[in-house]
Amino acid sequence: MATAAATALLLLAGPATAVTAAAPDDNHEVHAEHLERFADEDASVVEVTVADRTELDELVATGVDLDHHVSQTESGIVVHAVVTPTEIQGLKAQGYQVGKVLFDSEDSEDRVAEREATIAEHKAENQAFTASLARSAAVSDVKITRADYYTSGTNQVLSVEAKWAQGQTSTSALTVTRDSGPGTAMGSGGTQNITRFVDAGVYLYHRGAATVTARPDKIRITSPTGDVAEVQVKEWLPISGDAPEGPGYQKDFVSSYLTPTELYDRIKRLADQYPQLAEIVELPYKTNGYRRKAQVVLGSANANRVAVDSLAWGHEGGNDISVELVNPGAADQALSVSLTDKAIRVSLATDGNGTPTSTAAQVAAAINASAGSLVKAYTYRGSVGDGVVAPVARTALTDNLKAPASVSRDPHPVYAIRIGKFRDGSKTGVLAYAQEHAREWVPPLVTIETAERLLRNAATDENTKQLLRTLDIWIAPSINPDGGHYSFYDFNSQRRNMTNHCAEGGSTDALARNSWGVDNNRNYTEFSLFDGFSGASTSCTSDTFAGPSELSEPENKNLDWLAQRANIKFSMNLHSSGNYFMWSPGAYATPGRISAPRPTLAEESFFWGASSRILTAIKRHRNLAVTPARTGPISDVLYSAAGNSGDMLWYKYGIYAWNFEVGTSFQPTWDEAHQQTLEYSNGLVELMRVARDYDKDKKRPTSTLVTKPSATEGMVDVTFETSEPAAVFYTLDGSKPTYESTLYAAAGLREGAETLTVPYGTKIFWFSVDAAGNIEKNYRPDTDAKNWNRGFALISDS
Ligand SMILES: [Zn+2]
Repeated sequence: MATAAATALLLLAGPATAVTAAAPDDNHEVHAEHLERFADEDASVVEVTVADRTELDELVATGVDLDHHVSQTESGIVVHAVVTPTEIQGLKAQGYQVGKVLFDSEDSEDRVAEREATIAEHKAENQAFTASLARSAAVSDVKITRADYYTSGTNQVLSVEAKWAQGQTSTSALTVTRDSGPGTAMGSGGTQNITRFVDAGVYLYHRGAATVTARPDKIRITSPTGDVAEVQVKEWLPISGDAPEGPGYQKDFVSSYLTPTELYDRIKRLADQYPQLAEIVELPYKTNGYRRKAQVVLGSANANRVAVDSLAWGHEGGNDISVELVNPGAADQALSVSLTDKAIRVSLATDGNGTPTSTAAQVAAAINASAGSLVKAYTYRGSVGDGVVAPVARTALTDNLKAPASVSRDPHPVYAIRIGKFRDGSKTGVLAYAQEHAREWVPPLVTIETAERLLRNAATDENTKQLLRTLDIWIAPSINPDGGHYSFYDFNSQRRNMTNHCAEGGSTDALARNSWGVDNNRNYTEFSLFDGFSGASTSCTSDTFAGPSELSEPENKNLDWLAQRANIKFSMNLHSSGNYFMWSPGAYATPGRISAPRPTLAEESFFWGASSRILTAIKRHRNLAVTPARTGPISDVLYSAAGNSGDMLWYKYGIYAWNFEVGTSFQPTWDEAHQQTLEYSNGLVELMRVARDYDKDKKRPTSTLVTKPSATEGMVDVTFETSEPAAVFYTLDGSKPTYESTLYAAAGLREGAETLTVPYGTKIFWFSVDAAGNIEKNYRPDTDAKNWNRGFALISDS
């Protein structure tokens, strides 16, 4: 082999080999004949022992290939010869003492391999170095994190997100240059600007969408410093193949907006009709009720106003109370109050001229003294009430509630319909709930439409049948029925529940009645206002009022109770509006925008993967695309919402919890509401399919290690690729990987997997686990099993 000499040379560097040659044969004769070597033979390094210098000279004269090893021993001079089997025979024939083989052709092959590895290593180092040179020139201060092309309605849109190193300090927009399809010139598709998304003072990324006339293949951003980034454009929510609903699939069951009373009636009728497949569950906490005290505010200015509230609820007698303030029509009268049945008559004090002189504070005190068993009177919002009160004609106190009597004024039960063939907690649970926010009228319809689709197709559609066999589905169409009724009948813009938590001296009077209530989507337990998180208010009149304490409200206790069903793994919190699709984290603390913990890379990819299925199902209805910019963690794409329900379900109960923001307004025209109901029900049914696939997922993930030259010399860039969304736990110190090992993470907010930069040759051990808990190769980290994955941070020669 051509390399034999070279490998023999390698031995020079080694220590002198111990010599154990036999003593020369006394009667051997040395013939200095030239030895023949055949090209097809492998050579070995052998010891040859000669008696003295003369004999050594004769050996040299044979032309044998001696290396430079010569050592004097008691038995003679030992040399190393690089010889073939024929040459060895020749040497022996000539009487030479041939000793042990030090290095044969197998060793040689090993060395060749070793050499190749060594050469590869040098080459890799070279490559890495070259790459680092190339990269240090190419490392750009702008990184394009998303480039999504999609159609929405009849539009074609390109949405781009990018992070710019100077984004925190510079307000510059970034210009995106587009090509107009594969092989076309950069720029031929035009340009668009994307602008900074800054939230709570923190720059997150640049983003922006523009309509385009052709689908770009690549885009480029040249940052204001001249750095360049270029990426391939991906299609967002591509529609392919047929809809998952088979022929004859029934839908479109909702024909008008429905009040909470009607929503509950509807699910009760459904459960009655399908007793084998559904039941109504009354949740354990009744609301505080669609009810108010009867109230009135007399007077015209803060100082002279007197507020009067009934002690009884309006519908329980409060509405029968009336009050009048009378000028007695005589001088020097004292303030007095008379009570006839429920009619309160206040006769105002007068001065010497017969002019009324009673102040608001005096009138309130007099009413309380005489009619305190019926009402409570007080000055307006903490005023000292020193303004003189003017006469007021008899005025009825009223609870101001306009709903028909068919809407109960009592504390209201909250109902869910539970759907599935096996409703014993043994099946994967899915929870959908709507109308935490009263004025959001479409989301409850989406839940009704979905319940109807599940039940009315159960007998005929195989897919639906399978969902009902596999899942335990809880649908709560209205979490906040009091607020819901108030929104339908009294105040369209009501967002919160109806409970007045304002303190005496504050906004407790009738004029504040549309400002009361707790924002049910801010009253939960995780990363709440009470924990110091942002996006909720302590003000009893704020639309994001968090309430007096976590879970103070019955509506919230009900959802907490639902989430405690141990089999529930998925949930959808349906809101409107904005066409958003979001998950946790939903809150951060300020300053510094300290986020609730981010989902792991695996969880995040599961969220994204399932989301694209759900959003594609929505898009099938009328090509409405929930945009990539409005898909993601709540606090990344929208704002912080401390104490929201999605965060409680995710962080407290480990439920994959999503939030829809349906449509573009709270109460759109019926035609539009109808379309939204149908399209978002597509998405909700798809969530059921996601849950079914999760339940059926027994397939173990696989994963591979991908290595690339690093920008840093001597280092290797390492990433893991998984066959499905899966968590990767790894070690770099040769220790066994377990669930306590480092979890492979995302590179950053709205970015893909991180790149680990490790020293060349680092030993990497790892395993992966999918969302359903299947472990790669069935490895059990808590046992003595050793079947984890092993690899090295090496660069392949490609
Ligand atoms: Zn909402």
